[in-house]
Amino acid sequence: MLSVSNDAGRLATGTQTVEDFMPIVRTILGDVDPKSLGVVNSHDHLIRTGAGEVFLEPDHLLDDVDKAVEEATYFVTAAQRWAPSGTVIDMCPANCGRDVDKLAEVNARVSGLQIVAATGFHREHVYLETRSHWVTRYTVDQIAELLIADIREGIDRYDYSGPVVERTDHKAGVIKIGTAYGKITAFERKCMQAAALAAIETGCPINTHTTFGTCGLEQAQELIKLGVEPSQVAIGHIQRNADVYYLAKVMDTGVYLEIDGTYRIKYQPDANRIMVLRQLGERGYGGRILLGTDSGKRSYQKAYGSVTGVDFNPAVDGPRMLDEGFDRGYVEDLLINNAQTFFAFRKGAVT
Ligand SMILES: [Zn+2]
Repeated sequence: MLSVSNDAGRLATGTQTVEDFMPIVRTILGDVDPKSLGVVNSHDHLIRTGAGEVFLEPDHLLDDVDKAVEEATYFVTAAQRWAPSGTVIDMCPANCGRDVDKLAEVNARVSGLQIVAATGFHREHVYLETRSHWVTRYTVDQIAELLIADIREGIDRYDYSGPVVERTDHKAGVIKIGTAYGKITAFERKCMQAAALAAIETGCPINTHTTFGTCGLEQAQELIKLGVEPSQVAIGHIQRNADVYYLAKVMDTGVYLEIDGTYRIKYQPDANRIMVLRQLGERGYGGRILLGTDSGKRSYQKAYGSVTGVDFNPAVDGPRMLDEGFDRGYVEDLLINNAQTFFAFRKGAVT
């Protein structure tokens, strides 16, 4: 059996009460003032040491701390053109190759960097065979307890990949959920239910994976129906569906969008992302858009030889948007300000 904390323990050991609430973002090295985040890469990958995605495609293996330090340094260097520091939201969720000790080592070796780690789940596909997976066998409440413990107590050193749980000092500051291409499987719905319980209980935001930009609206509707505040949900990778009418409909539910997939020319030119950012800004949605790169493969990172990497938003997108006539304040919202609001834990929750 996995060991989990009980309700009473959690509530008694919460680090904040409603009365003394100050906004915080939960990084792996502790809670910080959201204003300290600087440029935020809202969906990326510095460390992934194995599991399903790596089995499916070895290019996903990001186990080299030195390479991660190099890649993160490129990001901070580019971020510092805009702000004093940079923050990477590392979106590797439970049982997907998390190694929070390595992630903390990267953090310690790069000055000006903060890292937020994830709990929660990817889409079912990456767990390979799920009939015997613990998500299938545990109750929604049991799964939620595990997510809550990652957030309140510390991420399991063994990534919830075996029966022994050993909590590190590094807590999760974001919850991931994912869905398949054009459908949400029963496994994924169960993950969403547990994620919603954990988000409501802890005030931790939810950052999602859509597959090729499908089911974004359904993710938003489902999480809101489960009781999650719309402003605590960001629908991710949605740029793959570069349909501004559709994206506006998703945003009309009150959620954020997370736009990444930078320099992924095999799918679409970067001009599509810039067009989406321009048009959503013009329509008044610009305060709820987050940027990332999702450079979750070796072939997407400079440290492994690519011409593009985790630094793309501040290094390339920002200058390009200014060059294309975007208002500087809007560009700074996209790079810096929106994420500082989104990744703050919800007011009123006992974190
Ligand atoms: Zn990703």
